[in-house]
Amino acid sequence: LNRPILENIEPAISKLESFETFSSMNFGSLQLSETLVRNLQGHMKLVKPTHIQEASIPTILKGSDALVKAQTGSGKTLAYLIPVVQKLTEQRVSRADGCYCVVISPTRELALQIFDELQKLLKPFYWIVPGLIMGGENRSAEKARIRKGINILVATPGRLLDHLQNTKTFPTHNIKWCILDEADKLLDLGFEKDITTIINILDEKKKSNGVPRQNVLVSATLSDGISRLASISLKNPVYIGLDQRA
Ligand code: ADP
Ligand code: MG
Repeated sequence: LNRPILENIEPAISKLESFETFSSMNFGSLQLSETLVRNLQGHMKLVKPTHIQEASIPTILKGSDALVKAQTGSGKTLAYLIPVVQKLTEQRVSRADGCYCVVISPTRELALQIFDELQKLLKPFYWIVPGLIMGGENRSAEKARIRKGINILVATPGRLLDHLQNTKTFPTHNIKWCILDEADKLLDLGFEKDITTIINILDEKKKSNGVPRQNVLVSATLSDGISRLASISLKNPVYIGLDQRA
């Protein structure tokens, strides 16, 4: 009895969703290299950028700090990973350079998801080394991988702080990006103090080596906690936000 109704409603809803989520642009018009675009469309099978990706990619490429806010499922991971990878392919990068980018994720599960997308994105750029460090894993094995060189590091906050404080061979002098992903969840899980300490350590290191750093705060929601985190971590940030019905 309900079937005709469902048949009428379903396509309307999916049309609405795709209208809301996806941009009418192509990845090819976002100032990305041909190889990167081919990887997104071919290997990763993404047809079009989402709205938040269309808005974030050129803005993050320009180099300003950013607060990226959009609902869960809108594609925020690639919204920050794509510009970072594009930038790293425009310069000489070797394993020995150590860390260029840290992505901080509140949980192991989310860190694994980010790492998985990062590995797919880096497929044609085999010389750029991704890495994952997180609570619950073997610390000395992580130390060895950090010493060998990880160019883009995905990490949970406690373990990252541990390595920043205790792994003497952590090459941090090239860090150019710090991404706080799922910032609302970082706050919910009580990581504000760890994040603040991490930012302070990175700022101290920046003072001594002079490499400017771009910070990006990514969240599905805004709150007083997010504003605090933004004031600690962002300088003259651009706000990239989408309403539910952008
Ligand atoms: P968010 O962090 O905003 O919650 P994610 O970055 O986790 O969203 O992405 C949600 C899902 O959408 C993932 O499975 C991701 O691979 C997929 N996705 C991301 N960008 C695109 C795109 N441009 N086209 C199709 N799927 C995409
Ligand atoms: Mg996310």
